[in-house]
Amino acid sequence: MRILITNDDGIYAPGLLALIRALAPLGEIIVIAPERQQSAAGHGITLHKPLRMTPVALDAPVAEAYATNGTPADCIILATADDRPPPDLVVAGINAGANLGEEVLYSGTVSAAMEGVLQGITAFAISVAAYENCIFGPSADLAARLARRVTEMDLPADTFLNVNVPNLPAEELGPTVLTRLGRRRYLNSLEQRVDPRGRSYYWFSGEPLECDRVDGTDIGAVLAGMISVTPVRFDMNFSGARGEFEELLAGLGR
Ligand code: MN
Repeated sequence: MRILITNDDGIYAPGLLALIRALAPLGEIIVIAPERQQSAAGHGITLHKPLRMTPVALDAPVAEAYATNGTPADCIILATADDRPPPDLVVAGINAGANLGEEVLYSGTVSAAMEGVLQGITAFAISVAAYENCIFGPSADLAARLARRVTEMDLPADTFLNVNVPNLPAEELGPTVLTRLGRRRYLNSLEQRVDPRGRSYYWFSGEPLECDRVDGTDIGAVLAGMISVTPVRFDMNFSGARGEFEELLAGLGR
């Protein structure tokens, strides 16, 4: 089995190394990851500059490892560069920081898994719910068990798993539960500052507000100390309120 491992935290992120070491016994590991931090890069791909793959030495048993100047989604597409056979499995992570609710739209980690399924490859994304002092052990262990399971039994077409693990030691972790994406509202505070030349510049400093604690959501599960596994597929169609939209079109005049 050829396993492609990527992330959005960059090639030297500790979560990537933990994931590689956990999955190495399962097959041949190919690592293609951004050369620098790409968190919140979303599903962007690189169309207007050359993409490079620079071989890197990692302290882990890998067949090939490259840093790229591209995005996480680029990493999946680059996996077939130079006529390499496509991987059998894409695993993205282990991300430092949860990817819950609408964060999946911004997350480079989740977008890498999404690009995997768009390319017809089984995929999952895995994140630990902390930015610092991350406990990667339980997530790495889960990633190995999950990699075995998803390759034994095919996932439904076009579907990947978004996994979020509370930042707890193994003995304090709750059960692994099936969830749906919740909604996590942010206080999108935009901090405006002034540079030495008198021009304004800005920093996003969004703080999560009270979260959607509704039972069954990924956010609720992680808040309760449980491991959240959310099946995700690309389908942004909204099939409700047909009448209202028909009325809207009818009002256009022709
Ligand atoms: Mn990240």
